Amino acid sequence: MKLTVTYNNVEYDVVIEKNSLDKVNEYLDLNRKVLVVTDSLVPTIYSNKVLEHAKMGYLYVVESGETSKNLENYTKILSFLAEKEFSRSDCIVAVGGGVVGDLTGFVASTYMRGIDFYNIPTTLLAQVDSSIGGKTAIDYNGYKNIVGSFYPPKKVIIDPITLETLDQRQLHSGLVEAIKMALTSNYELFELIEKSNDLNEDLETIIVEALKIKKDVVEIDPKEQGIRRILNFGHTIGHAIESSGKFNDLLHGEAVGIGMLYFASSNVKNRLLKVLKKYNLPTSVNIDDNELIKFINLDKKRTGDLITIVKVTEPGFYILDKIKLESMKEYLKGGCNA
Ligand code: NAD
Repeated sequence: MKLTVTYNNVEYDVVIEKNSLDKVNEYLDLNRKVLVVTDSLVPTIYSNKVLEHAKMGYLYVVESGETSKNLENYTKILSFLAEKEFSRSDCIVAVGGGVVGDLTGFVASTYMRGIDFYNIPTTLLAQVDSSIGGKTAIDYNGYKNIVGSFYPPKKVIIDPITLETLDQRQLHSGLVEAIKMALTSNYELFELIEKSNDLNEDLETIIVEALKIKKDVVEIDPKEQGIRRILNFGHTIGHAIESSGKFNDLLHGEAVGIGMLYFASSNVKNRLLKVLKKYNLPTSVNIDDNELIKFINLDKKRTGDLITIVKVTEPGFYILDKIKLESMKEYLKGGCNA
């Protein structure tokens, strides 16, 4: 299966196929210098599959975890590229989750004003969401994703087999991003996730259907000035929960899952609660409304005292609304009554 994404007039392919990593040389031009960036907990078999086909391959491993999306790793990788005399006709390949993808994409977008970037996402979150859409970033001065660029990959290779080594909690956390897209835009996809008897069996379909939604959205609105904001469903509260620093053991998707509940109609909320429980995802955190508001105020997506929220009234149907920050309290109290 192949999807072609058109991003700011540039086209790139996303290959979604079991065992595609085994024949990665058929999809990527590795007949040049190739830097593979991965993290310390991504099984090495995946990066090796790329390296064994590279004409001149190099490996760069960062520590696993969000803290690796930092300025130091960014500059160290740039230095590595310069030291090995990478030219603009060489390439960089990310093999890993969203952390590796965001960091590597940012390096690729700035080294020599941009060299070819291939993304091989190996977490469900990265396969359904972060690997397409062209956002790259590092965290800086305590702010998540505050430094970055819009830079589309040259190609994305998604091999669902790589998810077999991912632990179940990470898998379910990544599933939340697919649930998010299903709830805003695709009733059948939501139903599939809701009724699935064997998630592993359904994963490939879930990835393809979620990616189709993301593709449609980023093609229309590459720089998040309009409809792309629907991808933030659940994220306003999710990010506030994460930023509070009180729940550092929560994974990103877990926080977003809780965040979606606040902006769902009662029908959607009931169904979503069941789905979250089905996949052992948390449904609440113990945090004071005023504290949540404090962190929502820091949201970089707000404009003055207005913030755009995404509400889901029925699975597959969303409303984008600009509200005053002070009205947010109503949502925190009772959830969305849309
Ligand atoms: P992650 O990259 O930290 O990966 C999670 C863990 O899984 C890591 O420990 C990693 O080593 C391990 N791992 C990865 N693949 C594995 C595999 N196949 N088998 C076993 N272990 C594996 O986390 P993530 O959830 O993939 O990504 C989160 C990041 O994505 C955040 O930094 C977030 O800001 C970013 N993000 C970016 C976008 C975007 O549009 N660019 C969108 C959403 C999220």
